[in-house]
Amino acid sequence: MTIQLATKNAHKAEELTKLLAKYADVQSLPDTFPDTEETGTTLEENARLKARAVYAEFKLPTFADDTGLEVAALNGAPGVYAARYAGPGASYEDNCKKLVKELKDQTDRRASFITTICYIDATGTEHFFRGEIKGIIAFEARGKNGFGYDPIFIPVDGDGSTFAEMSASDKNTLSHRARATAKFVEYLKTQR
Ligand code: IMP
Repeated sequence: MTIQLATKNAHKAEELTKLLAKYADVQSLPDTFPDTEETGTTLEENARLKARAVYAEFKLPTFADDTGLEVAALNGAPGVYAARYAGPGASYEDNCKKLVKELKDQTDRRASFITTICYIDATGTEHFFRGEIKGIIAFEARGKNGFGYDPIFIPVDGDGSTFAEMSASDKNTLSHRARATAKFVEYLKTQR
C-alpha cells in the first residue's frame, strides 16, 4: 500500500520512510504543497489539520504527525508551540538558544518530547497514535545530527548523549516519533 506523508521536513520524511519501509511505500510531499497553518492548541488538532489538508489533495491514506516539547520547569512550554518558541520564523538554533537561556539557573531540567500521529485511512477515517520520550535539557548544544531540539535533548533511556550525538538509527530506536510510529505499525499489521 502507499501512504502519503503530510510533511515537507526532509529529516522527518527520512526518519519516517525508514520506520515504515517494511510495511508501506511512503510517498513524500512535494515542496510546492502549501504549508498548513497549525492553528490548533493541541498536538491532535494540528496533526489532524495537516492530515486533512493533504488527504483532500491526494485522496491517499495519509500520515501526519505533530510534535511538542514539554519542559517541566516551564509549566509545559514550549509544548505545541515548539517550532515557534523563539518567535515566528525562528530557526532550530534560535529555539535551542532560547530554551537553554530560559533554563540557565534551573536545576529541574526534565522535559518530554511527545508525538501525535493522525492517520487517515482509505475510507477517510481518522486514527490517532501517541509516543513519548522523557529526557533532560542540556546546558549547552552538543552534536550535529538530527534537527530541532536534538542538540539539547538528552533522553533518559540513552547513554547521556544528546539526540544530535546519536546516529539516526540509534535515535530511531527510542524517539517519541519512533514510539508513536511503532503503535501505528501495530495498527497497520492488523489491517493486512
Ligand atoms: P512538528 O510539529 O513535528 O513539526 O515539530 C515541531 C517542532 O518540534 C519542530 O520544529 C522541532 O523544533 C521540534 N521537533 C520535532 N521533532 C523533533 C525531534 O525529533 N527532535 C528535535 N526536535 C523536534
